Amino acid sequence: MQNTQSGSAQMNDTREREVIESVPTGLFIGGAWVTTNATMPVDDPSTGRVLTEVADADPDEAAAALDAAVAAQPAWAATAPRERSEILSRAYALLMEERDRLALIMTLEMGKPLAEAKGEVAYAAEFFRWFAEEAVRIDGGYMTAPAGGSRFLVAKQPVGPCILITPWNFPMAMGTRKIGPALAAGCTSVIKPASQTPLSTLALVDILVRAGLPEGVVNVVTTSKTDDVMSPLILDPRSRKISFTGSTPVGKHLLELASRTVMRTSMELGGNAPFLVFEDADLDVAVEGAMLAKMRNIGQACTAANRILVQRPVAEEFAQRLTERMGALAMGRGVEDDVVVGPLVNQAAVDKVDELVKDAVGRGASARIGGAPAERDGYFYPATVLTGVPADAEMASAEIFGPVAAIGEFDTEEEAVTLANDTPFGLISYVFTQDLNRGLRVSEALEAGMVGLNQGVVSNPAAPFGGIKESGVGREGGFTGIDEFLESKYIGIKM
Ligand code: NAP
Repeated sequence: MQNTQSGSAQMNDTREREVIESVPTGLFIGGAWVTTNATMPVDDPSTGRVLTEVADADPDEAAAALDAAVAAQPAWAATAPRERSEILSRAYALLMEERDRLALIMTLEMGKPLAEAKGEVAYAAEFFRWFAEEAVRIDGGYMTAPAGGSRFLVAKQPVGPCILITPWNFPMAMGTRKIGPALAAGCTSVIKPASQTPLSTLALVDILVRAGLPEGVVNVVTTSKTDDVMSPLILDPRSRKISFTGSTPVGKHLLELASRTVMRTSMELGGNAPFLVFEDADLDVAVEGAMLAKMRNIGQACTAANRILVQRPVAEEFAQRLTERMGALAMGRGVEDDVVVGPLVNQAAVDKVDELVKDAVGRGASARIGGAPAERDGYFYPATVLTGVPADAEMASAEIFGPVAAIGEFDTEEEAVTLANDTPFGLISYVFTQDLNRGLRVSEALEAGMVGLNQGVVSNPAAPFGGIKESGVGREGGFTGIDEFLESKYIGIKM
């Protein structure tokens, strides 16, 4: 039979198969990989083909994972901080050594371009490095009561067993951003990755095991029966903390469940980022910032610039320059060289972007480029620039989650701030201006947990990441990140 594949295509296929086969596919419970009767498929969104099958846990199997975390908690809490730190440091080094393999796994299971996937592995690894450093700096306090006499001793203790739930869009970094501080603080956990992207988490936990993680300290549950499997774990009074990254509706549901046992919560939820460009901005800097804030992860980021608002005198020039940059982006499988516009995560994502674009155009917006799903296999939507997007378009209030730059206009600073804050979300806002006073004044007025001032990406393990309003509660990373996994215990001492 004639072989129709070129030699290099075959080599790539072989490499992709080898990399996928290197990932464990079971549940990880009490230090062992466990197979299940049921399995679920993992797809490559650039082709729609099934890459592999992973374990599909039922509620009993998930309960075993929590049992293991609960059993391991006392010993892990008693482990020397230096020992916890060294496991994280070794895992950091392994992640960096195996960066290419891990990036390819991520690209295959969720579509982001390989260069971005490599960036995410490094970003993910940095959380382990940061929290390795934080593990040995957990502090406490000792003070004299204001009236004298007694003393206050304040000790920090691990919260206890944690439930960690992560989304598909940053499948490795969202894992390390939670596992890192949990381990550093002395907490055990059960982690549940998104069912679309379990492989990055499975590969990550395999690395932790090789770095010396003791049995039961981190357990992994993959499941397609998400609510049935996870609700009992969250309602179990032995679970003392839930840390969730995902959509706001699911976050609200989990907050309700968490309220039943008054467990500690950290919620990193959806965003609707305004991106403000003032007439005094350096337009080169603003366009570069917009490319980063819009196109990171093909627009599928909670931090994505959802509403680009430009002051009227520079709106046309900004739109032209952005259209030129967006129009030059190559679309294709994330494994191909130079591709920036990979596939969206699934067909539902393409349909949602399509609907939002049609709605905006129906209300008067114009598509400068793109504007309709790509006609090819896989879940592709091309880079799109819309101008004249009115404030009542659906995309002004919904997360677009795709490569669509939606540009609107404003006249005054006051109007810009009003438009920016006109959303129930408050994760991040971007401001572009060369006037330092205006930059700080507007940054202070914006209702957001984070502001990018003349910069299109703010994510950094050393900074406190998180939102206000319906974008969440709590902060991940930075000096406060570990506190989310610690309780303060006050011991009053009679002298
Ligand atoms: P999602 O649908 O909320 O899912 C997130 C995670 O929650 C997945 O693991 C999902 O599992 C799980 N889940 C869904 N229903 C659940 C339930 N009833 N009980 C327990 N777990 C449940 O969100 P997504 O579509 O994966 O991610 C995109 C969203 O995440 C966007 O809104 C984005 O803005 C947000 N996000 C926020 C941040 C941040 O730091 N603020 C970062 C990244 C993403 P299944 O996959 O099995 O459904």
